[in-house]
Amino acid sequence: MSAPDLHQMGVAALSAALASGKASSREVTQHLLDRAAAHEALGAFLHVDADAALAGAAVADAARAAGRAGALCGVPLAHKDIFVTQDMPTTAGSKMLAGYRSPFDATVVARLKAAGTVSLGKLNCDEYAMGSANENSAYGLVRNPWDLTRVPGGSSGGSAAAVAARLLPGATGTDTGGSIRQPASFSGITGIKPTYGVCSRYGMIAFASSLDQAGPMARSAEDCALLLSAMSGFDERDATSAQRPAGDFHAQMLAPREGATAAQPLKGLRIGLPTEFFPAALAADVNGTVRAALAEYEKLGATLVDVHLPRTELSIPVYYIIAPAEASSNLSRFDGVRYGHRAAEYADLMEMYKRSRSEGFGAEVKRRIMIGAYVLSHGYYDAYYLQAQKLRRMIADDFQACFKQCDVIAGPVAPTVAWHIASQGGDPLQAYLADIFTLPASLAGLPGMSVPAGFGAGGMPVGLQLIGNYFQEGTLLHAAHAFQQATDHHLAAPAGF
Ligand code: GLN
Repeated sequence: MSAPDLHQMGVAALSAALASGKASSREVTQHLLDRAAAHEALGAFLHVDADAALAGAAVADAARAAGRAGALCGVPLAHKDIFVTQDMPTTAGSKMLAGYRSPFDATVVARLKAAGTVSLGKLNCDEYAMGSANENSAYGLVRNPWDLTRVPGGSSGGSAAAVAARLLPGATGTDTGGSIRQPASFSGITGIKPTYGVCSRYGMIAFASSLDQAGPMARSAEDCALLLSAMSGFDERDATSAQRPAGDFHAQMLAPREGATAAQPLKGLRIGLPTEFFPAALAADVNGTVRAALAEYEKLGATLVDVHLPRTELSIPVYYIIAPAEASSNLSRFDGVRYGHRAAEYADLMEMYKRSRSEGFGAEVKRRIMIGAYVLSHGYYDAYYLQAQKLRRMIADDFQACFKQCDVIAGPVAPTVAWHIASQGGDPLQAYLADIFTLPASLAGLPGMSVPAGFGAGGMPVGLQLIGNYFQEGTLLHAAHAFQQATDHHLAAPAGF
């Protein structure tokens, strides 16, 4: 197999090429390392360790030669820099953690390593995963491979850009309020945020612990299914880990639906369209692209039904109270003593804390800490935090009412295609408002997926969001896979990559 083809292959294709001996992990890894170097200007990687990657590839090739290779053995990937890694630095996109080395690997990282994957390095992200454009990283922005003047989405922007630019067949991401789905949508790739508790949070630097969830980002539903099977499963080190047997998401994805036919693999699937997900303010190109994808789903046998998520708009204030509240608590550990940057000069302990945190955190992180401390403070707790918690429960109940009428819920991932770099003029509210369609599933803890649906204004990718009931990842992957078997949006590569 010639080197120029290697980066065109996704996880499943690479797995097959490695199994048949058409390519070695060393060869693929070297090729992707060369590409990472050639496309450094994208800003996707924060750290590349070529020696470690090649050594890992050699181990994978040896395991395969010895007949000890699983599906992912020798497949290269990289991790969002929010996962701690023992053999590489971890920054969470923050100056606070510059030079930090973890004494252990995150469970997700350890599991993917045990499956034989080869890590090329760490991927750029918004500082502590707070953001929607990767413009909040202390280590520079990431460019969207479809248009270098636009953002790739965030906070898993490095993961999205690297996969879209064919620097990697897949990557890890995390999603607290949309950070897997929205960058996947903006960058034209496939991503799934599983049900809260499916992937261990152990070793994922905490942003908002009741919402944080890891997941794969890749080019297809099939690739995501393979990665998710390896990275998920119960972990006693995470108190909110779901106590369920490890899922074979690839088998679930392939399992035919009852009553399905070759022409109509989704026969009988009821797709609920929340009217609130198609407001007048939805960009016309996004609306048109999503509707066209839904028409394709009808051809595949699905039926579309109108449903309601009446508190969709409220999910913005609810999320932007709960997430900062949890963040203000989680980030208290970065004080220059237990973790993180320590100021060079200070008169006493208080000043040391103040200076260290002032210097170490970026503007958006400080804003969230202040909002969080405010909504939790005596006198405001009932008015903000407690109200938000009550509404969160109602939002989750709204979904259960929908799932009485449908099997999956669909709509846009984001109200627009990827915006231009620096176009929001530093107004954080604009980015918060654009999270409207991803926040509801996050607050409810439901699985959500972004599937490339086509292209909108400026030739930019548009994602279709699929939301399932708890632990229905298999249903989402099956529905996305059927769509991808019938369409080729997910196969399109940005020009020059
Ligand atoms: N954009 C949202 C935020 O800024 C979501 C981020 C995430 O999912 N990590 O909080």
